[in-house]
Amino acid sequence: MTRFETVKAHVSMRKAAESCGLSVGRNSMALCPFHNDRHPSLLIADDHFHCFACEAHGDVIDFVARLYGLSLTEAAQKLASDFGIDPDKPIPVSIRRKLKIRTEAQRLRENEWLCFSILNDYLWLLRDWEKRYAPQAPEDVLDERFVEACHRLPWAEYQLDILMQSDSYERGEVVSELTAGGFIRKLQTCLREERYHEQPCLDQ
Ligand SMILES: [Zn+2]
Repeated sequence: MTRFETVKAHVSMRKAAESCGLSVGRNSMALCPFHNDRHPSLLIADDHFHCFACEAHGDVIDFVARLYGLSLTEAAQKLASDFGIDPDKPIPVSIRRKLKIRTEAQRLRENEWLCFSILNDYLWLLRDWEKRYAPQAPEDVLDERFVEACHRLPWAEYQLDILMQSDSYERGEVVSELTAGGFIRKLQTCLREERYHEQPCLDQ
């Protein structure tokens, strides 16, 4: 097996995409990082990705190369190291340097995209809870998930509106608020865990 084949055999497209911060839905769709995607257009199949909007297409190595601006060989090295395929071979300094030189603008864009994607998942969960756990009779004790939906839905919609429609200054403000203290990552972890079906997600 060549290095490329080994990496492709070990690392599924989904694992790699998630390790790069993409939130992949149950329908295998994610927001595309290669264009300004607002509705998930990127299909994450077992062995390839394909964007129905910008037509980005390729395998797991192409994905990492394109996302981080690496050559295919460098991307395979990064994946091998990230997924413990070559535990004795750390990522060469030359690649580390490239990964570091990502500009502030790229970092902001990625954060913005991460916030949008997680908030969007959260919004759908809340809309589901709002219907599913609505009280059936006036004397019913309110389900905590219904309370969270009532409390957080207007907030989530407002934040998403800004991320979709406002200028870069306002988007930046929302992103720094959401990323402060690891808030958005906490929300992401909570959305990923199975127990989110049974318990409220955020403290009220
Ligand atoms: Zn795309």
